[in-house]
Amino acid sequence: MKNQILTVLLLFIAVFVVAQEEESVKMRPEMTEIWDPEISLVTPGETPMDAPSDAIVLFDGVDLENEWTNDKGEKPGWDVANGCVTVKKGTGVIKTKRVFNDFQLHIEWRSPAEVKGKSQGRGNSGIFLQGIYEVQVLDNFDNRTYRNGQAGSLYKQHPPLVNACKAPGVWQTYDIIYTAPRFNDDGTYFTPPTVTVLHNGVLVQNNVKLRGPTEYIGIPEYTVKKHGAAPLVLQDHGNPVSYRNIWIREL
Ligand code: MG
Repeated sequence: MKNQILTVLLLFIAVFVVAQEEESVKMRPEMTEIWDPEISLVTPGETPMDAPSDAIVLFDGVDLENEWTNDKGEKPGWDVANGCVTVKKGTGVIKTKRVFNDFQLHIEWRSPAEVKGKSQGRGNSGIFLQGIYEVQVLDNFDNRTYRNGQAGSLYKQHPPLVNACKAPGVWQTYDIIYTAPRFNDDGTYFTPPTVTVLHNGVLVQNNVKLRGPTEYIGIPEYTVKKHGAAPLVLQDHGNPVSYRNIWIREL
């Protein structure tokens, strides 16, 4: 009888310890948010950039359907007006019909002039390179958020070097140089994807290496499934962020 009681007691302790351990490793979004030290501010200059002769113009301010679809391959649901395209909440991402490997991308974006929300809830969108690696688009003009999730970050992997955000309602530029990963036969990276980003002409990412696809919760994997050329994807995060003058040069 005594032994039975002891066995039950030990079993109970074992279950309790396992439960505690499981609880301690359960990841939450805020566990991968890094807030300090705060990204320092830089005031950018003016002048957006027109497409050079060898670029593919992905959006000219008028025609979206020629180069873009929604996630289902159908007509994109976003609004095109006044030379730009604006996220329409709930219609989902838009993605390019073309697929890309290594490229130079120019894209202009504007967060809503009417400031609503805070932190990640203000002017949030994103540019997913090869559909899975996010360069964050966010209104970080006088809007604090975690450093590895702000405008110009490779979301939750690399914070921007500085905060070069312009005011809400003002057009901003990203110039992104992307080198796609090369893979081993087992699907792991032979060389990881690398990204350089200029935000309003200011270097914010200097040829950084990605660990894996962007993750909202948890640590990105070092190993991923092998992928080939893939579309560029723009995120619907529910905020009416606008885009214009999108062009790309395949490298
Ligand atoms: Mg985003």
